[in-house]
Amino acid sequence: MKWSESSPRAYYKNYERVDVKNDQGWFEVYELPGEVFAICEPRHFQEVNSYLILGREKALLFDTGLGFCNIKPLVEELAGGRSVAAVNSHCHADHIGNNWRFEPVLAFSTEASRQAARCGRRGEQLGDQLKEEAFRGGYPEGFLPEEFQIPPYRTEETVEGDRIDLGGRTLQVIHTPGHSEDSIMLYDGAHRILFTGDTFYLAALYAHFDEADLPRYRRSLLHAREAAPEAERLYCSHNELSAGVEKLTEAAGAMEWITSAESESGAETEVPSRVFTEGGKRLIEYFFDGFSVVRQAR
Ligand SMILES: [Zn+2]
Repeated sequence: MKWSESSPRAYYKNYERVDVKNDQGWFEVYELPGEVFAICEPRHFQEVNSYLILGREKALLFDTGLGFCNIKPLVEELAGGRSVAAVNSHCHADHIGNNWRFEPVLAFSTEASRQAARCGRRGEQLGDQLKEEAFRGGYPEGFLPEEFQIPPYRTEETVEGDRIDLGGRTLQVIHTPGHSEDSIMLYDGAHRILFTGDTFYLAALYAHFDEADLPRYRRSLLHAREAAPEAERLYCSHNELSAGVEKLTEAAGAMEWITSAESESGAETEVPSRVFTEGGKRLIEYFFDGFSVVRQAR
C-alpha cells in the first residue's frame, strides 16, 4: 500500500480535462493528441489509466479499469455512437474490472489470461486493493468492498502482428512479455503513438512476478521499439499518462545494468536502490531517471 498523496498529481495539469456527464465522481477524462481519451482513476492508489481510441467507425477501449465503478456509460458517452471493442493490455486485476460489460474482450492467450477470464477475480484475491486506505477520499458512492468481485468474461484471442481496424485508423498488436506473460502493446503508426500497458510507465516497473524474467522483459522493450519504428509518444496504463519513446530504450538499458549488477562480475556504476517486503516477498527496487525497476531480492 503506498497511497500517500492527498491531492491530485501535478501531471494531470499538462492535459486537457474533458467535462463528462458519466464520471460518477470517480473517473477523470483527459483528451490526448491523436483522438485519444485517457480515462483515469486517480482516487485509487493504483492510478490506472484506460484508453479510448477513436476511429472513423469504431472505438477501441484499451483496458476496462478497476471495475469499482461502471466505466461503460462513460465510454459510450465518449465514443459518440461508434461501436466499442475492448482489448486487454494484460490480465492483472486492475485492468480487467469491467471486462464482463464488453464481451468478448480481445486478449493475448496464456494460461493466466484464460484462467482470469474463466474465473474472474474474487475480492479476497485482490489483497490490499480493497482496503479503505487504498482510496483517496474514501470509497466511491455505493461501493461495497465486501461484495466486490470481477465476474468471469469471454475473450477472443489476439496475437503478435494482428491489426485492428477502426476505420481510417489501425492498431498493431505487439506481444511484450516481461511484466506478465500476456502483456501486449498497441501501435498506432499514423499517429506515432505506442500504448504500453504496464510494460512501461513512469513509475515502478514490476519485474518480480513469478513468470517475470528480466532479460525477456528487456528484449520485449527492444522488440517494441523495433516493431513501432515511427512511435514518438508512449501512452501508459498507470500514473503519468505519457512519456517519450526514448524511455523504452532507457528501460532496456536499465534492465541490462541490473542483470550485470546481479551477476558475479557486478556493475561498474552505482544505482540508488532499496530493499523492502511486499506480499511476503523480499524485493529490491532500483531507481533510474523517471522510473524504477522492482525485482525479487536475492
Ligand atoms: Zn500489471
